[in-house]
Amino acid sequence: MPAIPGATPDALDAALADPIEVARRLDVDPERGLTAADAATRLAAHGPNELRSAGGTPFWRRVVAQVADPLILLLIAAIAVSLIAWLVEGAEGWPIDAIVIFGIIVLNAVLGLVQESRAERAVAALAVMTRARSTVLRDGTLRTVPSAELVPGDLLVLAEGDQVGADARVVRATSLQVAEAALTGESTTVEKHPETLTERVPLGDRHDMVFKGTAVSRGTGRAIVTATGMSTEMGAIATLLDETVAEPTPLQVEVGHLGRTLGRIVIGIAIVVMLTVALVQGVRTPSEWVTVLLLGVSLAVAAVPEGLPAILSLVLALGVQRMARRNAVVKTLSSVETLGSASVICTDKTGTLTTNQMTIQRIVTASGTVDLGGVGYAPVGRATVKGRPLEDGPLRTEVGIVLGAGSLANDAQLAEREGEWRIEGDPTEAAFLVAARKLEGTTVEAARYDRVGEVPFSSERKMMSTAHRHERGDLVVLSKGAPDVLLEHCTRIRIGPDIVPLDAVRRARALADAEALSEEAFRTIGVAYRPAPELGGGDGGPDVTGFDESAEHDLVYAGVVGIIDPPRPEVRPAIAEARAAGIRVVMITGDHPATAARIARDLGIIDEDGIALPGARLDGMDDRQLRDAVRTVSVFARVAPQHKLRIVDALQAEGLIVAMTGDGVNDAPALKSADIGIAMGITGTEVTKEAANMVLADDDFATIVHAVREGRGIFDDIRKFLRYLLYSNMGEVLTVFLGVVFAGALGFTAASEGGLVLPLVATQILWINLVTDSGPALAMGVDPEIDDVMARPPRGLHDRAIDLGMWIGIGVTGLVIAVITLLTMDMFLPGGIVPGGTDTFDVARTAGFTTLVFAGLFTAFNARSATSSAFRGLFTNRWLWGAVALAVVLQVAVVSLPPLQVAFGTAPLDGVHWLVCAGMASVVLWVEELRKLGILLATRRRADGAGARFRAA
Ligand code: ATP
Repeated sequence: MPAIPGATPDALDAALADPIEVARRLDVDPERGLTAADAATRLAAHGPNELRSAGGTPFWRRVVAQVADPLILLLIAAIAVSLIAWLVEGAEGWPIDAIVIFGIIVLNAVLGLVQESRAERAVAALAVMTRARSTVLRDGTLRTVPSAELVPGDLLVLAEGDQVGADARVVRATSLQVAEAALTGESTTVEKHPETLTERVPLGDRHDMVFKGTAVSRGTGRAIVTATGMSTEMGAIATLLDETVAEPTPLQVEVGHLGRTLGRIVIGIAIVVMLTVALVQGVRTPSEWVTVLLLGVSLAVAAVPEGLPAILSLVLALGVQRMARRNAVVKTLSSVETLGSASVICTDKTGTLTTNQMTIQRIVTASGTVDLGGVGYAPVGRATVKGRPLEDGPLRTEVGIVLGAGSLANDAQLAEREGEWRIEGDPTEAAFLVAARKLEGTTVEAARYDRVGEVPFSSERKMMSTAHRHERGDLVVLSKGAPDVLLEHCTRIRIGPDIVPLDAVRRARALADAEALSEEAFRTIGVAYRPAPELGGGDGGPDVTGFDESAEHDLVYAGVVGIIDPPRPEVRPAIAEARAAGIRVVMITGDHPATAARIARDLGIIDEDGIALPGARLDGMDDRQLRDAVRTVSVFARVAPQHKLRIVDALQAEGLIVAMTGDGVNDAPALKSADIGIAMGITGTEVTKEAANMVLADDDFATIVHAVREGRGIFDDIRKFLRYLLYSNMGEVLTVFLGVVFAGALGFTAASEGGLVLPLVATQILWINLVTDSGPALAMGVDPEIDDVMARPPRGLHDRAIDLGMWIGIGVTGLVIAVITLLTMDMFLPGGIVPGGTDTFDVARTAGFTTLVFAGLFTAFNARSATSSAFRGLFTNRWLWGAVALAVVLQVAVVSLPPLQVAFGTAPLDGVHWLVCAGMASVVLWVEELRKLGILLATRRRADGAGARFRAA
């Protein structure tokens, strides 16, 4: 059999073979990676790098699930009974009821299936947006590709915070540490290096391999992919993962529970109705029994909103899609609900509140201060001292060292493409590259140094160092970092051509210089260096061995730079909006307290006299003290990632629902612990994105506030359709119940010429619920905002979707609907409470049926807000108007078309009937408008009263 290109060697073989052998067997250039064409061929041969999921549910199962609802089964049983009765009675004519009810069940199942698949498509589209990505070298250039497209032979380029996309043989590593808990359960990180294993060892000890599903917690490296998809070690245990079921959201649980409770209540009512008919009217023939049975069952089916969970998922999924279009990609439906309840947003500063467009504007050294002109990444701008050009001398020398060393201890890249300067890497570092180009000669000098070692930057250490060898052969350590931290490692300071001891006075002065820059909102970074002959060992090789943190001592302080990072213009209004909505904004940053406080004041997070609490102070606090602190402090500065976790916990202990942003790999635990973890889409690592509930595609704080608004809006919409469905369902149940009980008083019995007197027949009840009500209910799920959702405090996470007020509203509205429906029927009949009618019972019942349908449509407008008039934003929901128009047309059809008249037991109505029905139905609107007016007046009076008390005080 011909070999597949890049056929996967056994994973353990790869661990035991040296890197060159692995590259040869997988036919890949270990320096340039695969070619794009080769990668495509291999992808076709091996298939996507995915852990196969259980696959979709087969179609027949979905259909069964649609009709497997106990109430629908009850209905099917009732149809069977009615068919038997029809056969027993001689099978005359068509079993109309049975056929119609069956048709409605089918229609309902089809609608359910359509809704379900739309919701699924929406969720699948989101999954595509949040899928993991990997960096690879292909054709010698760095590419970021979806991890699903990795193939055996791909050259993975790993960095801190990356998710390892496939099993791979390590070929190069610098302090590479990987967290393998997901695979091995081992919680400490594992060091990886390319040295070939000499014997077979367990998974957790294979230091020359990295595995799919694990994460790089530190360092950098390269590795050749040896296995993808189900062939990976993760694939071997993936059968366990296959079965992950989407958890229902709390709201879905509540609604499911509600449905079941209502089911029980309504079945009780249905039984009472059936017994009442049987006792009061006396049921004689089997067909009468069947009619009563069908009525009872239909009532139960109709009154229980069994389709609710499906509509709920659809509304949530559509809302999530809307949010994604505005750059907030939510990963789980339940986060939408939580988002609407958020009461505090903890946010990073750099890049989220600010633009992350870093420009060095000032350099302060022992000999003075230099201003650097220009903004952005174009290296144009002049160095000046108090407005005059910077001249040669001690200051010039010191500034040259600061910018030269800062641009060498650096991993960013700066390049001009089509006249535009672009950066690659960390903007803070890129700022040094730009500034160095503004100072003549600096880059030329820097080019004489080769990098031979590195201790990477981390948010914990807040500094980084590199080792360099000059052309002449001398070795130096170059460091840059937060000035307060860096100065701890310095014992000397550079003044002009001299290096002098950093005594207490000079140290205090250097700190004060940095502090002064921070007070002006500058982000500050200090630079230091040290000749390091001891590193060389004299062999002149490409890398120095054993270069690590221990080399960061006795440094010579060179100076500090002030970087501006302007706030994003849209953030200030977003913070004001959040505060108005009862949401606190807390800034948690690694930056200097003075810088953080200045920016927090400018953005309106704290008042002019507000302060920032330094992270070091948190270390001295116990949990109790920290809880006291988080009540008042809204800016935490110079914090390390582990502080974030403690702050989240303290806020949660205060009963707050916490949304928390993060980007670095060490932020993942805090994001997981927060109620809503938010990862940065642009600057965030794959690990944080994985841990988060939501990813911000644009890294912008304002997007979080938009998302909260959407979350609240979605919840409001869900309440709207719950209110609507329950209003009209209650109307039907009460109509049938009261109609049966008061059949005599209302003149029904006298008009019915013997036989059963039912205010509605089974098919009519099903028609209302499954045909005319469905459209408006769906339209309600995408209703635009009527009440300002950001003008109220956040909803408690455990607050019920249907509270007591709503239940009372449902009872009252239901009663009004029942009364107007029954009175309309009575009006057209002789006798009863309203005398003077002359119609037959069939005509009166059709008028009642129509009134009930129309009242339902009016109710839709009532249900859009619990407090605002139905006329507010009356025309903003075109879906609702479309659904109402369709329902009216369908109602006209069911009343006027002879075949439908037979199917639904209706009789033709004339113009007067239609007008009376519409007029009577509108009563439900007016009653509700009066109630809302009452609320408005009461609120005004209360506000006036409070105002008067305020004035009196
Ligand atoms: P935030 O947490 O709001 O994103 P941040 O990005 O300022 O804030 P860190 O990245 O932890 O937080 O940076 C903390 C400090 O470390 C900075 O104030 C700066 O002095 C220093 N610093 C940041 N980036 C670098 C870097 N690449 N090299 C050296 N020092 C750096």
